Amino acid sequence: MAQGIDFQISARDGKARRCALSTPRGEIRTPAFMPVGTAATVKAMLPGSVRETGADILLGNTYHLMLRPGAQRVHDLGGLHRFMNWDRPILTDSGGFQVMSLADLRRLSEDGVKFRSHIDGSEHMLSPETSMEIQKLLGSDIVMCFDECPALPADRERIAESMRLSMRWAQRSRDAFGDRPGHALFGIQQGGLEEDLRGESAEALAAIGFDGYAIGGLAVGEGQEAMFGCLDFAPGQLPDDKPRYLMGVGKPDDIVGAVRRGVDMFDCVLPSRSGRTGQGLTRRGPVNLRNARHKDDPRPLDPECACPCCSGYSRAYLHHVVRSGEIIASMLLTWHNLHYYQELMQGLRDAIEAGRLDAFAADFDAQRAQGDLPPV
Ligand SMILES: [Zn+2]
Repeated sequence: MAQGIDFQISARDGKARRCALSTPRGEIRTPAFMPVGTAATVKAMLPGSVRETGADILLGNTYHLMLRPGAQRVHDLGGLHRFMNWDRPILTDSGGFQVMSLADLRRLSEDGVKFRSHIDGSEHMLSPETSMEIQKLLGSDIVMCFDECPALPADRERIAESMRLSMRWAQRSRDAFGDRPGHALFGIQQGGLEEDLRGESAEALAAIGFDGYAIGGLAVGEGQEAMFGCLDFAPGQLPDDKPRYLMGVGKPDDIVGAVRRGVDMFDCVLPSRSGRTGQGLTRRGPVNLRNARHKDDPRPLDPECACPCCSGYSRAYLHHVVRSGEIIASMLLTWHNLHYYQELMQGLRDAIEAGRLDAFAADFDAQRAQGDLPPV
């Protein structure tokens, strides 16, 4: 493990783990949810507010930041933490996933991916070496290996080839990352839904040696049942004594299911993106504030929630500002959604410590089964 990075497992309940990942910029309590700050901002939130929801770490996107404002510029302005005014840990993705989903005219080779920016058409190259350099310029605390992720469904041959390319890129990422005390490098397991390919990938990564291990290539359209099927074996193939991160997941019920299967870290745009489209995520499930049923409702979005949205505003007000396209609608609902996610993570951590994760999960399901509050 890199100097200055420490990982301790303090409790277990079944396959679930309660851990702490320490970095020079602060401790990350796991199971952890990382809000997504794509373009050096968690949209509609001040960094201090994100911290107040309980987040220990943010995620930044290499692909977006390299194109605009540019990694060298961020570096020259003091690094990403200073630039966006967030002094706690930041994890950056490698750009690999987004270049495949967003960029134009991609050309994949053994060396890396050549592509054109979706913003201005300019030509760029991402490879294990350039991705490590960009993430270093940004000043990321947790750096992700550059990998390739095929969209599912894909045939087994394609998945195997892609996974083996990603493992060669993992070694090149490790070599290019070098020795950076206080900074962690995570490897990414691939192999689609195939147990033997996931196992081969896990072995290759463990042989190289990383500070943490991500499960990549899931939540790409396979559905929850298939994802859970894969998570029944994938986390257990990875080293037990390092953090395990499920990339791009997910809905609250995805997270609860994945924690029970041994995953420690998550990121997803869902709570922030939903907050900008009038959707509140609550313990009783999603609530669409655009719906006319809220027009005269004086109750808060979630009467049991202590966030600034629920303690100060009615559903009627939220309905009004969502319908009017007011900026405060995004601010309040994003705050609530992130607060709800962090409260869920705290609940999971407490339950693992107390050895009552099964009861917590049963209660979680029961509350969601009730559905939203009955109309007034
Ligand atoms: Zn709330």
